[in-house]
Amino acid sequence: MGAPLLVDNADLSVKTLGPCRIDSPLLPLLGERPTTQHYIDESDKVLYDDTTSMIAAREVALDALPGFEPAGPRRKIYFDPSKTRVGIVTCGGLCPGLNNVIRGLVLELTSHYRVRRIVGFRNGYQGFIARYGYDVVDLTPERVASIDDDGGTILGSSRGQQDPGEIVDCLSRMNINILFVIGGDGTLRGAKEISRVATERGEKIAVVGIPKTIDNDIPYIDQSFGFQTAFGKAAESIQVAHAEATSAPGGMGVVRLMGRHSGFIACYATLAKSNADVVLIPELPFKLEGEGGLLNHLRKRILDRGHAVVVVAEGAGQELITDQPQSADASGNRKLHDVGQELSRRIKEYFDLEGVELNLKYIDPSYVIRSVPANPYDSVYTIRLAHAAVHAAMSGRTEMVVGRWRRRFIHIPIGLAVSQRNQVDPAGDLWMSVLEATGQPPRFE
Ligand code: ATP
Ligand code: MG
Repeated sequence: MGAPLLVDNADLSVKTLGPCRIDSPLLPLLGERPTTQHYIDESDKVLYDDTTSMIAAREVALDALPGFEPAGPRRKIYFDPSKTRVGIVTCGGLCPGLNNVIRGLVLELTSHYRVRRIVGFRNGYQGFIARYGYDVVDLTPERVASIDDDGGTILGSSRGQQDPGEIVDCLSRMNINILFVIGGDGTLRGAKEISRVATERGEKIAVVGIPKTIDNDIPYIDQSFGFQTAFGKAAESIQVAHAEATSAPGGMGVVRLMGRHSGFIACYATLAKSNADVVLIPELPFKLEGEGGLLNHLRKRILDRGHAVVVVAEGAGQELITDQPQSADASGNRKLHDVGQELSRRIKEYFDLEGVELNLKYIDPSYVIRSVPANPYDSVYTIRLAHAAVHAAMSGRTEMVVGRWRRRFIHIPIGLAVSQRNQVDPAGDLWMSVLEATGQPPRFE
């Protein structure tokens, strides 16, 4: 097993607003016994490495091994709960579990820390900017009680750049001490800017993120919330495509799934159902033409078996589409070409030329997947992330996100969380499982 020496302790250290001097109000709940395992020992670390070969390759003493700060309640906290005001915002695209996170934050803040003043900012970072004129939403336990029954976000979301100076102006005007930011890489970069401006102005505002990525592409996190719900829903589309494909002569289903830069949803959804014949992911460019190309493989598959299912992540095969203009969304993210449509067109063209019968159905379930409520696993996961985020913020941690690494909840500096992307390793065991399940060649080249 490889031993990537990617990080050291300096990269993993989390900023704080100052010393913690206030007794945690959780004391009566968790007990005072010094042996209790509920409180986090501030000197403890969750090791970055988890194999003996990785640890040996570092060639350092045990206490110098890199490790993340563990998440969880501290005995002493930074903020006085009775005087703490909290803001929550959701930004970027939808993902299952957003409402669960909002609910988890509000319930933990109110029932355990007894924080009374929590507001939600509407429609992403626009909610802080006066000229948009959005009211804040008072977030009470009653207001959030059953919001997890629905997908989406009760606060709304948006894309597009906003001035971090104006955002901090708003936070100061409203006396917000803690800002919870739920969003993807762009949102987290924005949160880092907010934190930077607040620090420059000497404002003691804790900015804590709960990373949202349906694509599971944020690094240093075992799995992102909503991902399991998403690939479960995506697997249903593969099932539908399979039913269509097996019910017609020359039947072929093409399913386009999410995954701008990382093919995790495509891989997991495929493994969940095991009836896809080809999976195409952004990490692996593929060729259409020639003996080893995708089209020839599909032709043989249809002639041998009579049907085929192709799963394609939205970011795959972008290099095949050269005749369409490039554009960007409001946040400056490159808009992707519809690889599913293009692939379907090219497959039809090829089968026509080859004189092979084809009945192709194209299925794009994206909006159905991202807007469903969280499944039970993600409901549990989101509430636990929310608890971890509240403990972190109340202890004065800032410019960080919560995550789970090697199944333990941890704090990650925002800078590290946005420094790179988590991607499917074409030489790794996940991709190997996909190849085993589909029987496709390792590459179409
Ligand atoms: P998704 O996973 O859906 O793409 P995201 O959080 O990456 O989620 P974006 O639309 O890229 O979604 O960004 C959300 C918000 O963060 C937008 O208001 C955007 O302007 C802001 N933002 C993005 N990048 C930066 C940056 N580098 N600095 C400051 N703000 C940013
Ligand atoms: Mg993004």
